Amino acid sequence: MSHTPETLDPADWEAHRAVAHRMVDDAVNYVRDVRSRPVWQDMPPDVRSRFRDGVPEDGQPLPEIYRQIVTDVLPYPMGNIHPRFWMWYMGASNFTGALGDFLAAILGSNLGGGDHAAAEIDKQVVNWMKEMTGYPPEAGGTLVSGGSMANLIGLTVARNTMSGIDLRELGVGALPAPMRFYGSDQIHSCHQIAVEAMGLGNRALRRVPSDAACRMDLSALHGAIADDRAAGLHPACVIATAGTVNTGAIDDLQAIADICAAEGLWMHVDGCIGALLAIAPRGRALVRGIARADSIALDPHKWLHAPFEVGCALVRDAEAHLGAFSVMPEYLEGAPRGIASGAWLHDFGLQTSRGFRALKVWMALKEHGLAKFGRLIEQDLAHARHLTERIAAKPNLELCFPTAINIVCFRYDPGGLPEAAVKQLNTEIMVRMQETGIAAVSDTTVRGRHCLRAAVNNHRTTKDDLDILVEEVARLGAVLVSETLVG
Ligand SMILES: *Cc1c(COP(=O)(O)O)cnc(C)c1O
Repeated sequence: MSHTPETLDPADWEAHRAVAHRMVDDAVNYVRDVRSRPVWQDMPPDVRSRFRDGVPEDGQPLPEIYRQIVTDVLPYPMGNIHPRFWMWYMGASNFTGALGDFLAAILGSNLGGGDHAAAEIDKQVVNWMKEMTGYPPEAGGTLVSGGSMANLIGLTVARNTMSGIDLRELGVGALPAPMRFYGSDQIHSCHQIAVEAMGLGNRALRRVPSDAACRMDLSALHGAIADDRAAGLHPACVIATAGTVNTGAIDDLQAIADICAAEGLWMHVDGCIGALLAIAPRGRALVRGIARADSIALDPHKWLHAPFEVGCALVRDAEAHLGAFSVMPEYLEGAPRGIASGAWLHDFGLQTSRGFRALKVWMALKEHGLAKFGRLIEQDLAHARHLTERIAAKPNLELCFPTAINIVCFRYDPGGLPEAAVKQLNTEIMVRMQETGIAAVSDTTVRGRHCLRAAVNNHRTTKDDLDILVEEVARLGAVLVSETLVG
């Protein structure tokens, strides 16, 4: 029996070229016209059911697959590229970045390391992140999937360096005393997962009370460190947050750096939201002291609007960074020249094979320049102030917390309703705005009060968009209150 040799390459390159051209044309229109579509819409059951089919045994033509994407996928996005999406804390992506992801996949290179152009760009982008945050060029750093992974990298280096033992060889069971990490009670949930994955346990992460401004209370931090020392525990690391998820509060980085220096603790900054304020002339002062940290986690897929995913971990002491992850199996031995020469990039983290996520960041930074990204951050800050003022001026709308950066916490409160009813009312407003596709905000609870939360981290948002949000929340609130009164 003779086999026809097979390949994944198209049998007809010209036919594939035509489909690819259509995809690019449609993509340009899709992004250009995003404002004319709803932010989000629910998938009809027939669309949803098609995603439950099993793995196809035989292939089908690419144009048919693309037709399914056009009908079943493109109309049902999460919504974060829309100008009126302000949920959680996301980026709004950008077209050039999307081209970067496409070209990265075309090149197909593995960024585990080796001597090739993509590896140079990966290292260059990490160096740019150091420049942006004021870190020294000789610091260590790596691009990872996002902020959660960037924090895990920084905290792992902190654990190993501060452990006082050969932790890689002996493991946490050999620690002479349990290690303690400190973060405020506003800390992002990824840090709990990090300390758990690091084998230290959730209890190793002490939540230090925050003050009235939702910043870590520094006298409480002092107290916690002293208590732990007295109890025979090992205070090891303070995790300062530059921009909390709830309210955007920025811990006092200078003071925390002083405390860490005095106490001999590692300072890690979770800068997933706020580290990039350092590139905004009017934002820089908010994160003064960030470069004093021993490690920083930041998130280019948030305030640089890179398409998901890309995060970045920076570690001041490159030797400590390498020392936490570097291994040299015989099959990854370097060579004096050729593809396997040069430093391995996988030595700075947990992945061996790595994607070329640097390219989308590199292209967008080259196209727009750093100054424009700084201005866009200031634009978000100005937009958040505008929204804050509009809320304050609108009857029945209440600001729930002073706006620190670009996160606005507010709610509809006609007065006289019990707290549980206010929560129910605002949850319904939030969900209806999503279902009608007008705007997307999320919710949270700050200081025991439920509120809507708009994270204005979106280069497509205009003041008009925020005015629409204010009007719509007020309108829906009034409608819902009258419905309940009638019903
Ligand atoms: C978003 C965020 C994270 C997690 O980052 P991902 O990119 O979602 O993994 C961690 N900390 C803070 C403060 C964040 O805002």
